This record gives sequence, structure tokens and C-alpha cells, in this order.
Amino acid sequence: MDNCIFCKIINKEIPATKVYESDRVIAFLDINPIEKGHMLIVPKQHWKNLADVKLDTEKEIEIYEELMYIVRVATKAVITTKLADGANILQCNNACAGQTVDHLHFHVIPRYGSELATVPAFNSGAAKYEPNEAQALAEKLSSAIAAIVKDEELL
Ligand code: AMP
Ligand code: ZN
Repeated sequence: MDNCIFCKIINKEIPATKVYESDRVIAFLDINPIEKGHMLIVPKQHWKNLADVKLDTEKEIEIYEELMYIVRVATKAVITTKLADGANILQCNNACAGQTVDHLHFHVIPRYGSELATVPAFNSGAAKYEPNEAQALAEKLSSAIAAIVKDEELL
């Protein structure tokens, strides 16, 4: 899809700090993280949002299933590696709901600290990485995601 920033990442026209990639799904660090390790899980199929998902073909069903599977695995990776104590899953449909990139994606946002906390504000850019910190975190998450996928043997 022309002028779609996530299609450009998928097509390697612009860089991203990846934590997972297959033929169907890509996941990378959010460039403006709410918390450190904030990931976006993205289908390689350009669907605008959940209302736009089509499940007419076997391929579309496989893409959607893997997308949802990697949302779970990325969340599990955050918690089992003890990167963070928990995580929020956030997902926006249309501008009125906060959608700024019109290519379906799920946010997996690590949450630090054990106290009851409110859901964080979108697009706050609250977290800032030290030099090389994002790459190191991405490598940790990427290894954990790959290990879970291998262990569960579902793909
Ligand atoms: P949403 O508000 O759900 O549409 O979220 C879009 C997200 O995409 C925001 O959190 C942005 O920080 C993030 N984003 C935009 N451009 C990039 C990019 N080039 N690489 C990584 N994340 C991006
Ligand atoms: Zn796209």
C-alpha cells in the first residue's frame, strides 16, 4: 500500500528494530514508546484495522491467526523473561479511537512495578532509551519470542 509507513517497514524501505518476522507477521519496537520494550505486532497484509480484516481465504486466516498468536507470545516473552512485571495490549480502530497509522497493529506495552496502575495514555512517548538500549532490549525480546514459538511448536 503506497504511503503506508508499516508497509514501508515490511518492504524494508525504512528501518525498524525488529523482534519477530515471518512470511505473515512482523513485530518491532515502537519508535515513540510509552514504556521501554513497547512493541507493535503487525500483519504483513495491509488491513486498515480490525473492521477491515477479511477472512475469505486460507492465507488471510493464517495471517490473522499468526498475528493473534504473536500478540500472545510477545506478551508472554515480556513476562517470562522478567523484562517487566506485566503488559497492556492496546489496539486502535479509526482516528476517533486514537489510530494514527492506518495499518492494523497491536501494541504490547511492558509495565514496570508491582502496584495497581492505570492504563497509560497513548502516544505519550513517555519512555526514552539510552544509546544501544533499544537494540539490546529487542534482542532479548526476539530471543524469548523465538524460544516460545519453538517450544510451543504451533507455527
Ligand atoms: P496507533 O495510535 O495505534 O495508530 O499507533 C501507531 C504507533 O506507531 C505509534 O505508537 C507510533 O509511535 C508508532 N510508529 C509510527 N511510525 C513508526 C515507525 N517508523 N517505527 C516504529 N513505530 C512507529
Ligand atoms: Zn500498510
